[in-house]
Amino acid sequence: MSNQAPLMGQMMNQPLLISGILEFAARHYANSEIVSQRVEGDLHRYTFRECHQRARQLANALQALGVHMGERIATLAWNGYRHLEAYYAVSGSGAVLHTINPRLHPEQLAYICNHAEDQFLLFDFCFLPLIEAIAPHCKTVKGWILLGAADRMPADSKIPNLMCYEDLLAAQSADYAWPQFDESAAATLCYTSGTTGNPKGALYSHRSTVLHAYASALPNVLNVSSRDAVMPVVPMFHVNAWGLPYSVPLSGAKMVFPGAALDGKSVYELMEKEKVTFSAGVPTVWLGLINYAVQNKLKFSSFVRTVIGGSACPPAMMNTLIDDFGVEVIHGWGMTEMSPLGTTGGLLSKHMELPKAEQRKILQKQGHAIYGVDMKIVDELGEELPWDGATSGSLLVKGPWIIASYFKGEGGDVLEDGWFPTGDVATIDPDGFMQITDRAKDVIKSGGEWIGTIDLENIAMSHPGVMQAACIGVPHPKWDERPLLVVVRRAGSTVTREELLAHFDGKIAKWWLPDDVVFAENLPVGGTGKIQKNKLREQYSDYQLPS
Ligand code: AMP
Repeated sequence: MSNQAPLMGQMMNQPLLISGILEFAARHYANSEIVSQRVEGDLHRYTFRECHQRARQLANALQALGVHMGERIATLAWNGYRHLEAYYAVSGSGAVLHTINPRLHPEQLAYICNHAEDQFLLFDFCFLPLIEAIAPHCKTVKGWILLGAADRMPADSKIPNLMCYEDLLAAQSADYAWPQFDESAAATLCYTSGTTGNPKGALYSHRSTVLHAYASALPNVLNVSSRDAVMPVVPMFHVNAWGLPYSVPLSGAKMVFPGAALDGKSVYELMEKEKVTFSAGVPTVWLGLINYAVQNKLKFSSFVRTVIGGSACPPAMMNTLIDDFGVEVIHGWGMTEMSPLGTTGGLLSKHMELPKAEQRKILQKQGHAIYGVDMKIVDELGEELPWDGATSGSLLVKGPWIIASYFKGEGGDVLEDGWFPTGDVATIDPDGFMQITDRAKDVIKSGGEWIGTIDLENIAMSHPGVMQAACIGVPHPKWDERPLLVVVRRAGSTVTREELLAHFDGKIAKWWLPDDVVFAENLPVGGTGKIQKNKLREQYSDYQLPS
């Protein structure tokens, strides 16, 4: 049998292209709505049909500007309908959409713009001062496109070749046939947050993006259907908003974009007004929303499900959302290099009869692999470790939407025997549920043993007086490193160091107990809403622990 050529299937060989998603939504869910809180201050609404029309006008505009296949076109924009149009027009026409995080330092912005060799950059008008600052340093950008109408154009600006998005579109017809090409062609480019060294680019293909979109809509994953109204709170510059700009249109759901207004009050009001059923974001955003709802004694009338990921969802947050607000919480884990989804939480049928506290422990894990992602944990020698829910090791992954190499070969060969090392440390239980114990570089090494910081932070945050907590290793003469807990108190709380340390009693091994607690006004948060532990470690590098 091995010598014989396989009998080939006789189905259409249609490439998996991103343009096909919007084309499908516009044809089969033509009247599903896209609602956007604009940076202009008002609410904009239209349908997938109109989105498709404008995306084709933009594709024609890009052609008129001389953009070629494979060239990078950047965006610096909040979540909104014009950004969505760029998602489809740029990738759909064969160019590569490079989403840039506006929260990066201007020097880093210019660095990645040059590294990507961006040809044009589309930006929300609120970023005009930022563009003015970086434009002279972005050597490859031929034109800057302000995502707005002519009335938003500055009267005089030093930005060379500044263009108006609405004028560009108005000059074009919607008569455009999406080109058909190899599904492995590059579609979007996203740089890692780069806490150490320069950021590196993850270059997604049409195929990887479409497969990720299919898989992420599944019931075990995000469970998106045409009856949902989905609000991507996670920014479109953070790993393509976890794929929602693709998975939502292919599901035919309504989309609700919050724009720049991500404070608790704005998110709550938009959710209620547009009857949002499902949302996705990092824990820091939910903290703002929950605080606003609790302080104002509000409930959600339509919001029933959310995915929380990007960093560990504190159990206290999960409990509040489920028990006090009736919102189902799906814990998700992934990374820029994984498009980003790798695992999502949920229960198996055998878990349905378990007591609530037992079920919660399962839901608090980072979750089960999604079809398309394989994972394993290994020791320092690369030997695979058992799935017993207790042994922790380095987490490796592989699959069709996982990075094979960084853009321009940066970092060299990153795979280990065909697997991508995530840099996370995790356990996997016999049912395949993975739990992150730490990021390898955040783990505290005390006397040759490892202390996982996520557990310590979750316990601290289960104290009613604690709003946020981060645990870091600080140098120790005898043990190399010992844990220091940095805490932000809730408004009005007077919780003390001693009370907090007592709160750990019986919940962890004695030698894991933090050596000290310090109180801070706030914690340093990076561009994607994650606590920057490297900054904290710098800040407390000389900290004298009590002996
Ligand atoms: P990024 O590429 O910026 O999205 O960061 C990816 C990293 O975020 C992962 O490697 C994890 O360390 C962390 N991360 C993402 N989701 C979770 C989660 N649910 N729990 C714990 N860590 C997470």
